[in-house]
Amino acid sequence: MTEPPNRRVRLAILGSGPAGLTAAIYASRANLEPLVISGVPAGGQLLLTTDVENYPGFPEGILGPELMDRFRAQAKRFGTTFIDANVTRVDLGTRPFVLELGAEGTVTAEAVIVATGANARWLDLPSEQRLRGHGVSACATCDGFFFKNQPLALVGGGDSALEEATFLTKFATKVTVIHRRSALRASVIMQERARANPKIAFQFDSVVEEVLGDGKVTGVRVRHLPSGKLTELPVGGLFVAIGHDPASEPFRGQLELDEKGYIQVHEHTRTSVPGVFAAGDVLDHRYRQAVTAAGLGCMAALDAERYLAESPGPARS
Ligand code: NAP
Repeated sequence: MTEPPNRRVRLAILGSGPAGLTAAIYASRANLEPLVISGVPAGGQLLLTTDVENYPGFPEGILGPELMDRFRAQAKRFGTTFIDANVTRVDLGTRPFVLELGAEGTVTAEAVIVATGANARWLDLPSEQRLRGHGVSACATCDGFFFKNQPLALVGGGDSALEEATFLTKFATKVTVIHRRSALRASVIMQERARANPKIAFQFDSVVEEVLGDGKVTGVRVRHLPSGKLTELPVGGLFVAIGHDPASEPFRGQLELDEKGYIQVHEHTRTSVPGVFAAGDVLDHRYRQAVTAAGLGCMAALDAERYLAESPGPARS
């Protein structure tokens, strides 16, 4: 059996969303020959988005996956290389840093940019987990097409929830947004759009207690919190859009994290370990926009470039 490869690079970038790929564009243009460890699936949360209307430079809007293809092509153009793998374990207590990629081997790097983003949250109901992929989804863009001419339920009250609900009305007969409070968290423009959509209905002060169905979703059992009353809503699918958690697990115990698991940075993008930088949603729970993630990616690359210029590094042949 052949040994898994061990690659040595100056700069490894973990993650291939707007933060990671912007860092790659800047770092490759600075001749750092970065290696992007993309994460699987590659591309970050914009792959789960339809129209992106607020990324500057695209007055007509652009599809999230197309935008990410463009970021990737731009990074490749300047010499970035990619491995489509997940980091399973890291050792940031040694120099060079060690990144383990399971069957894809090991990468050692003089500097690291962590841009691993955040992952969708679930309701954590046993019935939800049982029916994931059989009518329960956290990605309207990926799965909406499968629910043509069916009524759907969607949980959440933020921008993602209303964006996904609006998208789902392209396919569904009706989308009922179930929100645990009486006030939506989403921005005013998103609320106005959703409220003006005749296919979107709202069920406030309510939570999904059970996803119904045997093999595929046939409905949801919903509790109205003020009255305690239970009702059954017949739907062909349930979409969950209740926010995200930072993908920082491999760094627990190695980098300083806050109580929610977001990476703590000091002096711009510097983490608690010199030579390790962070960018994007893995550190930012406030803005979480593609453009702010890209900005942080740029900052992390410039910080990493300065760090590498100031550290002696290994002898080069
Ligand atoms: P979010 O703003 O954190 O909203 C999460 C929603 O899910 C909230 O309404 C929350 O309820 C609800 N929720 C959380 N946990 C729940 C649970 N266990 N059960 C039921 N409901 C639960 O997350 P987001 O909508 O994903 O947005 C994240 C960020 O991205 C925001 O800054 C947003 O503005 C931005 N974003 C922007 C766009 C856009 O501009 N096109 C699109 C998507 C996202 P409560 O309200 O009661 O807390």
